[in-house]
Amino acid sequence: MKALITGGAGFIGSHLADHLLTAGHDVVVLDDLATGSLANLSSISDHPRFRYVEGSVLDEALVNTLASGVDTIFHLAAAVGSFVIRDRTLQSLRTNIHGTENVLTAAHRHQNRVLIASSSEVYGKNTKIGLCEDDDRVVGSPLLHRWSYSEAKAVDESLTHSYVTELGLQAVIVRLFNTVGPRQSGRYGMVIPRFVAQALAGAPLTVFGTGAQIRCFCHVQDVVPALVALVDARDAYGTAVNVGSTEQVSIADLALRVLALTGSSSDVVHLTYEQGIGAGYEDLQRRVPDCTRARKLIDFRPTRTLDDILRSVIDEQSRPNLVRAAVR
Ligand code: UDP
Repeated sequence: MKALITGGAGFIGSHLADHLLTAGHDVVVLDDLATGSLANLSSISDHPRFRYVEGSVLDEALVNTLASGVDTIFHLAAAVGSFVIRDRTLQSLRTNIHGTENVLTAAHRHQNRVLIASSSEVYGKNTKIGLCEDDDRVVGSPLLHRWSYSEAKAVDESLTHSYVTELGLQAVIVRLFNTVGPRQSGRYGMVIPRFVAQALAGAPLTVFGTGAQIRCFCHVQDVVPALVALVDARDAYGTAVNVGSTEQVSIADLALRVLALTGSSSDVVHLTYEQGIGAGYEDLQRRVPDCTRARKLIDFRPTRTLDDILRSVIDEQSRPNLVRAAVR
């Protein structure tokens, strides 16, 4: 495979780059370093089958040029993280809608296979235990920045679906649920790197809201092979596929597990959403995927537990030279 990974200097993209190179493929990474980091690529930067290009998915000509040299595109570049969407709503909409449109246009022109990374955010406030791909979206006003990310990803999905059904593009949409592991930054709001950084620094763990909200966290090493398998799965083209864990945990319990595994004596403090994220934020009380479709298509079975995930993040953050930017 000759693969282009947009957003390849980011958390998931850089793990995907490692995985593809190890499997013998050629990899080109396109990243504008908005939230990605060259440090994520340091172990592969000299690899003979690796190339890094700094630039934006909004640069239509650049995306077109890069697409002409590959057979497969993993489109992971996106503005992501509740703090990013809050602080740069307009730019996030542009990146997440026009960036995807540029990738789809280029992929169609050069007949690339494409994987479009979407998000469980498209389901919005639907609290069904075991969200299926055909379930309804339940979202608030598009005028709230909170829902603009969900809106953008939904537009991406509709665009992708139309490219497949009307123009014959070979593309699959993957709805990623909470994905975690080493290299994920807490700077943009993600809870596990934040809690771990806070615990290791002896700072209070900041639980937003009651802490009763439920999430399922999947290790990035379980997610990455699924992405590679799905871009190969012809039966998946034109569909959306959930990828995530089904191990549920409340955010309050998550804080206690981080304290137990780090041995930290930090306190747990509860902040209102207004204090933690800002005015007008509405949280999802529960988000649990049904991954039957992924299991049928690619035999998707995540093997790492939440404790495995927490240990891997704690190990990374315990390394002495790490800057703990997430603590506040
Ligand atoms: N959260 C929290 N404290 C933090 C960061 C996040 O309590 O310091 C909560 C957040 O409100 C949400 C959950 O943790 O209920 C997961 O947040 P994250 O941003 O990691 O992912 P989300 O599921 O919101 O996309």
